[in-house]
Amino acid sequence: MSGTDDALYERLAAFEGLPAATAWTGKDPVNLPMIRHWCEAMGDEHPAYRGPDAVAPPTMLQAWTMGGLSGHTDRSSAYEELFALLDGAGYTSVVATDCEQEYLRPLRPGDEIGFDTVIESVSPRKTTKLGTGHFVTTRTDVRAGGELAGTHRFRILKYAPAARPSPEAEKPRRPRPVINRDNAGFWEGVAGHRLLIQRCGDCAALRFPWLPGCADCGSREWDTVEASGVGTVFSYVVMHHPSFPAFEPPYAVGLIELAEGVRMISNVVGVPYDKVRIGMPVRLEFLRVDEELELPVFRAGGED
Ligand SMILES: [Zn+2]
Repeated sequence: MSGTDDALYERLAAFEGLPAATAWTGKDPVNLPMIRHWCEAMGDEHPAYRGPDAVAPPTMLQAWTMGGLSGHTDRSSAYEELFALLDGAGYTSVVATDCEQEYLRPLRPGDEIGFDTVIESVSPRKTTKLGTGHFVTTRTDVRAGGELAGTHRFRILKYAPAARPSPEAEKPRRPRPVINRDNAGFWEGVAGHRLLIQRCGDCAALRFPWLPGCADCGSREWDTVEASGVGTVFSYVVMHHPSFPAFEPPYAVGLIELAEGVRMISNVVGVPYDKVRIGMPVRLEFLRVDEELELPVFRAGGED
């Protein structure tokens, strides 16, 4: 830590042990309707939480201390000062990280709740994925009829959000193909600028995309033939919406019928998206998308 950080942490740590709330009372006594709503929301059907001898689910401990929409007023000045100090140091964001509870005695309908909250600890400066800041832990001692019924520790991180990479650095890349043993040969072909079609080793049927077996005869024997690269647009769609990262709509997606008779989905290039037509002749070429991805695409007007 730098000297400035040290000085800040020293000031933050001075808040440890100071009250955040003193002698507050629950807005409602422990009661069956709230218990019933809680159990419904949690899907908890335990019989201990029903009937004339019902107790409150222990995990409701915090619920009896909550301020609701209108909140609690008169939070301690120490709590306000601690948060002002963190805000002032640039730790303006907040995220709840975890809570711990301890139960000392069951709460029953009719119990009047009182509680005190203390700033238990402030951590040294920590860096997380969200950003750099300080963890603040408060401890609430919950009492019923003056007797300690449980404690609730609540930890938050007050942090300065990590700087986001610039939009240019974040420029999305086209999705990578999923290459497996059933289609590796196809991508090896693409790497060598050859568009390979699978051919059944038994019935000689051509197939595309690549599959482990022949759809006509079931044979798993196969070899390949190289496409001539001549084709026509069999059908197409123009993508306007939704937009996907790395793709800029509108663009045409063509179903290309190769001269060999199989069809493949690809991009039609060399013509505006709204000039693509069924039956349009196209010719194969390989498009270098980025340093590690090349794709077969089809250029319109490929008859020449
Ligand atoms: Zn076959």
